[in-house]
Amino acid sequence: MRKKLVAANWKMNKTLEEVDQFLQSFDTAKAVSQQRVSTLICAPSLYLLKVSEHFKNTGILTGAQDVSEHEKGAFTGEISASMLASAGITHCLVGHSERRKYHEETDLMLAKKVSILHDNSITPVFCCGEVLEQRESGKHIEVVGNQLKNGLFHLTAEQMLHTIIAYEPVWAIGTGVNASNEQAAEMHAEIRLMVNNQYGAEVADTIQILYGGSCNASNAASLFASQDVDGGLVGGASLKPIEFINIIEAANV
Ligand code: PEP
Repeated sequence: MRKKLVAANWKMNKTLEEVDQFLQSFDTAKAVSQQRVSTLICAPSLYLLKVSEHFKNTGILTGAQDVSEHEKGAFTGEISASMLASAGITHCLVGHSERRKYHEETDLMLAKKVSILHDNSITPVFCCGEVLEQRESGKHIEVVGNQLKNGLFHLTAEQMLHTIIAYEPVWAIGTGVNASNEQAAEMHAEIRLMVNNQYGAEVADTIQILYGGSCNASNAASLFASQDVDGGLVGGASLKPIEFINIIEAANV
């Protein structure tokens, strides 16, 4: 049975003081045992060391929200995979729709990012998902299939085993309108089938596929109940420690 994973994406939120408050409340509320569910916090780069130090030896994981596609050098403002690895960061989001949209990240760039993360033994959390128009015109499965093919399917089977996919319909991100259980279940099953067709059953059965898009403490349990939904990538609702803990609890079944 696949272990569930609940990942926070703090995006560009929280001052240092607010990070301290979150960590304190999270501890006080006795964060959920990591036996049946893993927790990952994707924090802004500035706070990665602080968060990973805080959660050292707790099993709670720390991830970055982006990485440079380049190894090193004259790329002012960028952070490389080797820098993340040297700081003990184990996971990194790749291709979040906000990066695709506002930073014009292409499939080719994302393909380079997932490779460079693997070269540095960091697990990519590869985000994919269609915009509303694509769903309404019935192209959502094709769109996600192309994102996977172009951004991810150059990996070896061994690398895919250590990759996480997050299905995040763009129309559901930050809108308060989550995908229905049926819509999430359908897409997750399709993604697993695509992975199966490309890499075979062992990889397809092992890989975690997260749902993201207006996931909260009220809808998490029903979204996570689908057999191919292995947890969630949570934006807004991950900023509040108690709500985030409730989402983790919803996966702890
Ligand atoms: C996200 O940004 O990855 C996300 C899922 O955001 P939200 O939960 O706020 O929709």
